[in-house]
Amino acid sequence: MSKKSTTKSNKNDILEGGVLTLEGKAQVIKEFRELLGKDNDKYDDECLIRFAVARSFQLDKAKQQLEDTTAWRESEGIESIPLPLLNPNTPVLYNIRGFEPYLPDWNLTVIEGVPDYVPRILNCFGGNAVHKTDKDGRGVYIERLGLHDAKKLAKDIKVEELVNWHIRCQEFSHRVLMPELSKRAGNVIDKETIIFDCDGMGLHQLHMPALSLYRAIADLDQRYYPERLGKLFVVNTPFMFVTLWSLVKKWLDPGMLKKVHICGKDFKETLLKNIDAENLPTFLGGNCTCSHMPGGCVPSVILKNIPPFKIGETLPSQSSSSHDLKSNRILKGDSRSYEVIVANDDEKSNGNNIEINFKILEGEGEVKLEVRFNKLNGSDVKNGGKKIMPPKKIFGSKSENTYNYKIKTKETGEYLFILYFNEAAKSDSCVIEHQIKVNNEPYEY
Ligand SMILES: [Zn+2]
Repeated sequence: MSKKSTTKSNKNDILEGGVLTLEGKAQVIKEFRELLGKDNDKYDDECLIRFAVARSFQLDKAKQQLEDTTAWRESEGIESIPLPLLNPNTPVLYNIRGFEPYLPDWNLTVIEGVPDYVPRILNCFGGNAVHKTDKDGRGVYIERLGLHDAKKLAKDIKVEELVNWHIRCQEFSHRVLMPELSKRAGNVIDKETIIFDCDGMGLHQLHMPALSLYRAIADLDQRYYPERLGKLFVVNTPFMFVTLWSLVKKWLDPGMLKKVHICGKDFKETLLKNIDAENLPTFLGGNCTCSHMPGGCVPSVILKNIPPFKIGETLPSQSSSSHDLKSNRILKGDSRSYEVIVANDDEKSNGNNIEINFKILEGEGEVKLEVRFNKLNGSDVKNGGKKIMPPKKIFGSKSENTYNYKIKTKETGEYLFILYFNEAAKSDSCVIEHQIKVNNEPYEY
């Protein structure tokens, strides 16, 4: 009797030199979909492959992990966590370098939308950033692990806080950053590269309460985010790292362990084999300095190249700042509307200028704009309202990716701008950035 737990196909048939062949991949996907039954269309091919690989192609185990993950995502409301670019006023929760114009370079600033535990965590961290890409086009996350204030971290941060922050960062990385990186690379990017810099590491970092925080993160990733790690480079490891590693190793799955490269002090060559010098900070052997940003490539409170975050102080989000990008995803065949209320008591007024700018950030297909108007206190503008502009094509292809619409009006009331994403569009959804100005001032909506 054949064992039910592995794929029907022999592992040797689907792998070549440890890498999944194209035919092997198709075979695994087909078998996994059959096993999942009617729920199979909830998942894309890449997702199925990640879970299958994580469980060494034992598809019943992969199915169990996938179902547990789906249940966890539902019970924790993971899908509804607001994400940068997809939801208004949602900042990125770490430092970002090298993804312009999609994402402006940014140093974490405590503005509206940043949970209070994030600056507390970053005050204890040696510094972190998602810094440019490696040679495969994967985003590179750098953490100066050796500079972490482990004792302060364990004292000031609850495990749920670190986990919540980590989940938000993962969701941002997978659902916002990776789709863009895939587009740039011309193939699917669903993993990231990580560099842990242990420079500065000492015995004080062997602090059990802090280690248990890191362990919670490793456990979470292995349970619910399998196969999201491409490669992990641990560099500048001191002698005492052997002790630490013998402990940490036990937390990790064999699949994860295979991706860990421990590089000691001679790490330059290994890193440069994987990351171009212009994409690698100088302190890691490259020639990037990010001198245009405070703190350079990887800002660090501990190194004092940026000031500590003031706890309990939230700065208002600056609506004119390029970080306050308002954007929404619109599904194929769906629409989204933006409402502007213009009220003007000034009798001498020459009227109001309304300007709306759209930019298509992602997706291909026809987008139409319709503008409606309703006098204040009138019937619901969404159902009635006077059509000022019938649905008009504003984007049809990638080359026409910005659109500007202006009206000058003396009529006060509600103006509604409705965007439709054509049901016959090439992409399943599109992401549109938008900004409305009334009399040249940004309008809050
Ligand atoms: Zn840099």
